[in-house]
Amino acid sequence: MTTGPDVTAVIIGAGFGGMGMAIQLQRLGIEDFVILDRADDLGGTWQANTYPGVAVDIVSSVYSFSFEPNPYWSRTYAPGSEIVDYARTIADKYDLKRRMQFGRSVTSAAYDEDARQWTVRAEGGPPITATYLIVATGYLSQPRLPDIEGIESFEGKIIHTSAWDHDHDLEGERIAAIGTGASAVQLLPEIAPAAGHLTVYQRTPIWVTPKSDHAVPAETQDRYASRPAVQRAVRAKEHLRLEVMLFAGVLHNKQMPWLAKPATDAALAHLKRQVKDKELREKLTPSYGFGCKRPTFSNAYLKMFNRDNVTLETTPIARITPTGIVTSDGEEREIDTLVLATGFSLWEQNFPAFSITGRDGQDLGRTWRESRFESYEGITVAGYPNLLLQPAPYSYTGLSYFDALEIQMAHVERLFRAMRRQGASGFEPTAGAQEKFVRRMRARVSHSVWARSICNGANSYYFNPHGEATLLRPLTARAGMRAARRFDVSDYQLT
Ligand code: NAP
Repeated sequence: MTTGPDVTAVIIGAGFGGMGMAIQLQRLGIEDFVILDRADDLGGTWQANTYPGVAVDIVSSVYSFSFEPNPYWSRTYAPGSEIVDYARTIADKYDLKRRMQFGRSVTSAAYDEDARQWTVRAEGGPPITATYLIVATGYLSQPRLPDIEGIESFEGKIIHTSAWDHDHDLEGERIAAIGTGASAVQLLPEIAPAAGHLTVYQRTPIWVTPKSDHAVPAETQDRYASRPAVQRAVRAKEHLRLEVMLFAGVLHNKQMPWLAKPATDAALAHLKRQVKDKELREKLTPSYGFGCKRPTFSNAYLKMFNRDNVTLETTPIARITPTGIVTSDGEEREIDTLVLATGFSLWEQNFPAFSITGRDGQDLGRTWRESRFESYEGITVAGYPNLLLQPAPYSYTGLSYFDALEIQMAHVERLFRAMRRQGASGFEPTAGAQEKFVRRMRARVSHSVWARSICNGANSYYFNPHGEATLLRPLTARAGMRAARRFDVSDYQLT
């Protein structure tokens, strides 16, 4: 006797990606699903990243589901805690909490071709079988711990930005920070005033542009609440600005390199205004092009280096000792606390975040790493039936994460409606359609800044270990949404 799966769908990840997919399933009338998350609460990256200064770095008016605007953001760039509150509001409104199981770190998912179902194994409970597997583990969810000799011998405190220890008092401490990406840019100016001394170990400088961040007056928030059309208009304007930046500055950079110049000039002028010391300025000036790596926005980061208790160290780290850091010139600096702003392991540990075995026992991570990172329309993969991947090659479309999510939601809507029309319950993109999609993406990437030699030395996670830019889909959000609403349904084998 055969039995059906435990549930229709398992969603992995209780962040915005997982919740967006859950909302989409509900819209399609699918109510029989569970959401697993390794954390003990919802919110995904915003639940994990609570370091001082954490805030969104895309204006808040576009950092929300378009169908669930939040009139009450307190600032142009809302702090992380408000985004977690927003996530809770969404979970409540769509009654998602009762479907969430926390403390369930997924270890593997395997497709059973005979039973036509996925078996998901996760800590904290028995395996779950499901018709559809939806992986919404985000992009930046596996902290990268630097592989520096001796780090395990360090006897002081080590804190990664994605697991901030709010009980640890930094007052008067000798702090070393490794990493100068977006997390460091937000965090370091917040902790510098309390530090006895802060040494920032920089391997690659980051482009920093001014941040036009203001409190949103209560009257404006009330106006947004009472007249949603006003907030929609603000969002549309901001969205258009981001789309133009992406189209002109990044996606067509090869044909029109001068279009990125104003951004580069603005960042250089910002640096000049904030840092008077020429030598320091030179060290803080990136040698790679703007847009090769995610730029950052801050009015506090660069000028922090003017402080007497802050040192920028650009000599490479040789090793870590029980009491400090030794640079390649033999110099040792004693420290109390080591702050790791070293980012996340994306291609190695998050694509995918756990073992996924598809048709014929093929392993998704191994296939991607050993051949190439590919997908169909940034969401499905040939050889892996009934699998939807929120973090997939070419999946991140547009500059706001919510654009990427809503584009995927639209894809699922079209796909599932097509299945329903055809009386099907299974889907898998054809290898030919996937090949054609990847060819199209590669051709588009060849026009972008990522295809230019100015990206050499950027050390950007936009590039996979094969050196190809396969993370961001080289389309504007508008074009991505059009593709999601119009893709050729016959690119799928529906069963
Ligand atoms: P990141 O941008 O990947 O930066 C990591 C930093 O650590 C880089 O400066 C890197 O240097 C350095 N590093 C890593 N390993 C090292 C080693 N072994 N030795 C020396 N330096 C090392 O990570 P992140 O700052 O956490 O930001 C990741 C992404 O998260 C951002 O790009 C952004 O998309 C997102 N984010 C968003 C927000 C927001 O919206 N509010 C805030 C923070 C982060 P190299 O460059 O030389 O590799």
